[in-house]
Amino acid sequence: MKKLLLAAALLSLPSTIAAQANVERLRDAALKDDLAFDMIEDLTTEVGPRPAGTPAEARARQWAAERLRALGFQNVRIEDYQMPTWVRGVEKAEIIAPFPQPLVITALGNSGATPAQGVTAEVVGFDSVAALEAAPDAAIRGKIVFITHRMMRGQDGLHYGQFGAPRRAGPTVASRKGAAAIVIRSIGTDYHRNPHTGVQNFAEGVAPIPAGALSIPDAEQLERILERAGNRPVTMHLTMTPRQIGMQPSGNVVAEVPGTDPNAGIILIGGHLDSWDLGTGAFDNASGVAITTAAAKRIMDAGRPRRTIRVVLFGAEEVGLFGSNAYYERHKDENIVMVAESDFGADRIWRMRTRFAEPARAIGVRVADLLAPLGIAVAPGDAGGGPDTGIWVRNGRAAIDLSQDGIRYFDYHHTPDDTLDKIDQEQLRQNVAAWTTMLATVANAPEEIGRVAAAGQ
Ligand code: ZN
Ligand code: ZN
Repeated sequence: MKKLLLAAALLSLPSTIAAQANVERLRDAALKDDLAFDMIEDLTTEVGPRPAGTPAEARARQWAAERLRALGFQNVRIEDYQMPTWVRGVEKAEIIAPFPQPLVITALGNSGATPAQGVTAEVVGFDSVAALEAAPDAAIRGKIVFITHRMMRGQDGLHYGQFGAPRRAGPTVASRKGAAAIVIRSIGTDYHRNPHTGVQNFAEGVAPIPAGALSIPDAEQLERILERAGNRPVTMHLTMTPRQIGMQPSGNVVAEVPGTDPNAGIILIGGHLDSWDLGTGAFDNASGVAITTAAAKRIMDAGRPRRTIRVVLFGAEEVGLFGSNAYYERHKDENIVMVAESDFGADRIWRMRTRFAEPARAIGVRVADLLAPLGIAVAPGDAGGGPDTGIWVRNGRAAIDLSQDGIRYFDYHHTPDDTLDKIDQEQLRQNVAAWTTMLATVANAPEEIGRVAAAGQ
């Protein structure tokens, strides 16, 4: 038996070497990629901002389906669903006393509205959600709550999780305590006078109140105003008139590179097609759409892979993963064996993680070896997928995470500054090369890719 295995290994060695050389050729060719940049330019120019549930997002779906067909993908389709939709209105903030001046603000997703003429109330400041929670309700009732934080920049976006709490949890806590409104320091790392929007959801049964984000210079200005006011009340006039417009159509765009072996399973890749409305969503997330599509196109052009590669451009990620959930519900019984997602801008991929069960762990090792020349290191821990594909990982699918350098990601994230000029084409090409390398290896791997024990178990 051992002898037979050894013979099989020796026989397959030349074909393994040939396969590896083939992947290396694809990788090096992808370092000259132009398709990804062209797609980002076209989507951000011809569609522009594409907020979930709006006609602009519908135009993005049409744009994507047409482009995918023109590129030669098979089974291109739009899968519709309905979702509750929120749209922005007027947004203005000014300090009335003691130091009158305007502040730059934007509404957070699902923010409640002030009356058309706005509200005027005293501002009470906190440096964390915990500090707000600890304050007596009597000190909050009828006031405008302000929460600041100390988010720092980092390669892996670690701070976004912890320091995003004022946005995600602050509005619910402030509403429960009877606040008239809440304004937070934007969840970002830049010093431009651009506020960062982003979603928040009021907890079940909690009344929506106006919830906005000040640009970081304006938040620091408000901190100084509160400090210097001493015993005098700081009064703000706030006008925000967003609206909930009910259930609206949204959808996912799906395309395939069909594989030769129907029993080998499907590799699911992609990113979200929707964006926030303030910029044109170049980093977040025309980049992910373009990187994954460009890499899949390269595999398609190199000849049919063993496994089907399915590209899913998810709708409505920003406002609550509606596309991800609709997609999972519709396709959860299909033989999707592995997922990977791009949703962290377009800067260089610097590390990877994998999540495989035996015998597929060897695939992750081969991918890592082939990615090392691109400067990509293997990070400790298991891959978790991205926002739109995490649900598959939590349900036992294998995954590879190719993590982008996030040092400048939160300078632009969800701001008017998320525009095409921020894309560094050389770094974008490195992304396409890494994705092409990963897909070429995984889609053609002879090993079976089976289910992995649920994450965290
Ligand atoms: Zn995103
Ligand atoms: Zn986003």
